Amino acid sequence: MFKIDLHTHMLPPSMPDFSAKFGYGGWVNLSPIAADDPGDFAGGAHMTIDGNHFRDVKPNCLHAEPRLRDMELHNVQVQVVSTVPVMFGYWAKPEHTLEVSRFLNDDLAERCRAPPDRFIALGTLPMQDPKLAIGELERCMKDLGMAGIQIGSHIERPGAPDWNLWEPELLDVFAACQELGAAILVHPWDMMGRDQMGKYWLPWLVGMPAETARAVCAMIFGGVFDRFPNLRVCFAHGGGSFPYTIGRIEHGYNSRPDIVAVDCEKNPWSYLADYGQPARFWVDSAVYSRNALRYLIAMMDERRVALGSDYPFPLGEAMPGAMVDSMYDLTDKTKRQLLSGSALEFLGMTADAFPGLMEEQRAARERAASFPTETAETGK
Ligand SMILES: [Zn+2]
Repeated sequence: MFKIDLHTHMLPPSMPDFSAKFGYGGWVNLSPIAADDPGDFAGGAHMTIDGNHFRDVKPNCLHAEPRLRDMELHNVQVQVVSTVPVMFGYWAKPEHTLEVSRFLNDDLAERCRAPPDRFIALGTLPMQDPKLAIGELERCMKDLGMAGIQIGSHIERPGAPDWNLWEPELLDVFAACQELGAAILVHPWDMMGRDQMGKYWLPWLVGMPAETARAVCAMIFGGVFDRFPNLRVCFAHGGGSFPYTIGRIEHGYNSRPDIVAVDCEKNPWSYLADYGQPARFWVDSAVYSRNALRYLIAMMDERRVALGSDYPFPLGEAMPGAMVDSMYDLTDKTKRQLLSGSALEFLGMTADAFPGLMEEQRAARERAASFPTETAETGK
């Protein structure tokens, strides 16, 4: 089946030394790893921050060719590419984050323009300065032809308290996204409790899902979804821990409305699937558990769960879409929705952008017509 992988990351093959350029540290530095290096990262790069090792990446994080080879191997037709969240740079001086964002966005846009036209980009913005962010958003959408942006689960600020996604200062950015039709992928980063979870990769395993739940709750309780009814938002990693704690969250909303139901008039359940209506927002499918995915589909509706693999990182799904493919209890119609249909709607695109997808949909319609008992309406 045609696959659009909504959640993948890509870095430029090389980057300026931003710490030297701006005169202060904290920025990621990329240094190449020789092609004949005996390790697993030959031809890739070391990522360091102020000389400290952050992560090594393989060539498929930096270059299109190995990605395209993997896409062939995995039968993924389209990747939606965004930067690696460590590059957000919200903690820095806004004018410097803008410069880094422009560099990253120009690079992603160039990859997307190059044949064979298999990549769609989400840009990054200096969210700590909404005016600068809106300017770069307009450039991403109008000049670079992007489908939207990727933002953090909260916004660090230089020398000031973090912003959650409910902050009034961010509303102008969301308004501009709605106006420009920009899709927003919310990705966890700068994980809460990181300093208290030094072992066992817990910032990634516990902190990231909590960060994403924080972002979902911030946008619901802050009234962001109510204020911007046409804003399209997708939360990474299956919405983090939010879908699995919605019962507790609603109980808090009902039992202590004086604390919780201050800026949001609707029960948090009303943002999830109900009576045939899909959820108010999207999540990706990166949950690595068939039962978790079944639950997610029930909570969100299949129209709001989109294939996302977190390629090319080790916590990603090694064969994007393989788990969906393997699930005997999902109909072909549902699989098509998860593997491409939900991403299309999130991105504000239609199938006619992709001839292969058009052909798949035509064939599916013909099959459905030839088996009267298995129509699209009863396909679930
Ligand atoms: Zn990711």
